[in-house]
Amino acid sequence: MSGELSPQAAPSEQGYEGALRPSTLAEFVGQSKVRSQLGLLLDAATMRQHTPDHILLAGPPGLGKTTLSMIVAAELDKPLHQTSGPAIQHAGDLAAVLSALTPGEVLFVDEIHRMARSAEEMLYLAMEDFKVDIMVGKGAGATSVPLELAPFTLVGATTRAGLLPNPLRDRFGFTAHLEFYSDDELASVVRRAARLLDFGISEQGVEEIARRSRGTPRIANRLLRRVRDYSLVHETPGDTESVHAALALYDVDEHGLDRLDREVLRAVVERFSGGPVGLSTLAVSVGEEAETIEAVVEPFLVRAGLLTRTPRGRVATRLGWEHVGIVPPGAAGG
Ligand code: ADP
Repeated sequence: MSGELSPQAAPSEQGYEGALRPSTLAEFVGQSKVRSQLGLLLDAATMRQHTPDHILLAGPPGLGKTTLSMIVAAELDKPLHQTSGPAIQHAGDLAAVLSALTPGEVLFVDEIHRMARSAEEMLYLAMEDFKVDIMVGKGAGATSVPLELAPFTLVGATTRAGLLPNPLRDRFGFTAHLEFYSDDELASVVRRAARLLDFGISEQGVEEIARRSRGTPRIANRLLRRVRDYSLVHETPGDTESVHAALALYDVDEHGLDRLDREVLRAVVERFSGGPVGLSTLAVSVGEEAETIEAVVEPFLVRAGLLTRTPRGRVATRLGWEHVGIVPPGAAGG
């Protein structure tokens, strides 16, 4: 998948992302249900002068989980400590983080489903009673020493809520499921980012970017930056033509499909007569990892109504056939 449409952030993008992150719930575009639910939770906690329940943010990459964790800390007026599941390889790693928290601090654990098992168990007690048991010594002489923690709010983020063990999931008082954004919401994201970047772009240009951003603010912001580059270098205004030219250069088509998406769809239609075809066969046929196809390409093609998943494999829909420019069988002649 080309970098332009990846829902993950490249390390070099983090500065841009920081500049474009909304810092209050009011500024956060879309996800209106989650915003109201979270707003109520935070307001009540502030009024009671108590830490709110632990919060789990579930949803695909690029939809605003990290941003929301920052907003939670800002709205509570507390510091934020950020870490991630893969950084917590041992219970000791987690104990070090937890014991350094100050009262009311917000602890953000990204990709919480990837935390070490031993740390997960330590986290249960920490979330429930603000305590951990630290093992001191080795072998038969090892003893566990209880350690009191400052009350904190855990904000966990996961792209795979189904992978979380039940005891962990149950300890979150509030779970927010983030949904892909509508084109209108993405247009608001783009408008806001253009304003912050001081880039003049026409309303049609904004809408065009929104349509091609796969429901994902991170992608919308990235495409906007590519269009801004294009306008700067070619000295063109930020209009629909610049959007078309810039995105054509990066192989992003009018529906937000990139080269790999189109190859996958084309393979299903042309090489497997529209399917059904199994994931691994499909992956080999386009020379890509099955995991990439399953995690990145397929969800989007399914959501766009171009592909369906059946127990026997992947099947191109009528729209999918049409997208690669072939009349589906049975449709010819009407
Ligand atoms: P995640 O943690 O879910 O991968 P992030 O919170 O890092 O996503 O968001 C990715 C980018 O998208 C950030 O630059 C952020 O500014 C932008 N973004 C995400 N959600 C919104 C939103 N609701 N409104 C405006 N910008 C958003």
